[in-house]
Amino acid sequence: MFRHSVRTFATSALRMAEPSQRLLNIAKAQGVAHGLTEAIGNTPLIRLNKLSEQTGCEILGKAEFMNPGGSVKDRAALYVVKNAEELGLLKPGGTVVEGTAGNTGIGLAHVCRSKGYKLVIYMPNTQSQGKIDLLRLLGAEVYPVPAVAFDNPQNYNHQAKRHAESMENAVWTNQFDNTANRQAHIETTGPEIWAQTGGEVDAFTCATGTGGTLAGTTRALKTLSNGKVKCFLADPPGSVLHSYIQSGGKLVERSGSSITEGIGQGRVTDNLKPDLELLDGSLTISDEKTIEMVYRCLDEEGLYLGASSTLNVVAAKEVAEKLGRGHTVVTMLCDGAYRYADRLFSKKWLQSKNLLTSIPKHLEKYIVL
Ligand code: PMP
Repeated sequence: MFRHSVRTFATSALRMAEPSQRLLNIAKAQGVAHGLTEAIGNTPLIRLNKLSEQTGCEILGKAEFMNPGGSVKDRAALYVVKNAEELGLLKPGGTVVEGTAGNTGIGLAHVCRSKGYKLVIYMPNTQSQGKIDLLRLLGAEVYPVPAVAFDNPQNYNHQAKRHAESMENAVWTNQFDNTANRQAHIETTGPEIWAQTGGEVDAFTCATGTGGTLAGTTRALKTLSNGKVKCFLADPPGSVLHSYIQSGGKLVERSGSSITEGIGQGRVTDNLKPDLELLDGSLTISDEKTIEMVYRCLDEEGLYLGASSTLNVVAAKEVAEKLGRGHTVVTMLCDGAYRYADRLFSKKWLQSKNLLTSIPKHLEKYIVL
């Protein structure tokens, strides 16, 4: 009797120390992510209640700010690293090199740390010390270099490429033209939206930086719906893609600028190229509308969003109004306002951008900095 109970105790203690594959499978089925990379994606689709009531449509935002690194770029970061592993370009202990000033670097830092890779980041030296500090504390080696144009060999992207080429077991992930980026959205973002809406989705709106999110999600939604979902590019001022699409393929010089960060493009990247023709149209959204929506999303929905997200929301609202009542429009909530709070909610900054008057009176209480 005694011997039996000791053995039972010992066996169950052993089970507690070393979970069997069966227990691990149960845990997984119940929603346990095995490490950080499995926690990327599968973000909720949030109904924007006030905007939906106002337009008579369902306006749904994909909550990408809930990814571990806080943005939609975690998806691309994971896929470019996985792709390099699959191609044998990156082996255990290797180094990832990228040119980025923003969310891709943060996504890569999380992914690389969790997989045991070193990360080297090149960025223009015009970026804030806060961004450099964050990347360094996430374990990246950061090189701020002079902010020169893309055609100059000293541009941060070319320096990143040369750095990777000078090392063994190192890869330049090249987010703009590496199509593993759009593949992330073909395989995850698009199918997730399709499943979450039960296929009841009429339109999708999205801004572009590299173009991976727009192109990949558009391709997936078009495939899954037999071309029925209407997909629209949402462009900020200073980007050339809206005029490229409207003119049937004429690329103009970049001019003008926007308060948005991480979006706006001067060329057709390899990520965009295969899918631009799938688009049903494009819109350009002014900074005035984008900033007002930052404040409205906070006030009406409790959502604390960055400006690329609220540009997407304005575009979703405008598409919904065009389609008419009863339609479902999905858009991307790319990241939160945390990294931009010192600008978006600062009176001085709003004034410097001539945007103070774009904030309606009843929302002025949010201008606290
Ligand atoms: N929003 C934010 C905040 C971003 O950082 C980025 C990426 N630069 C995007 C949108 C655009 O995503 P993509 O690169 O997939 O076009």
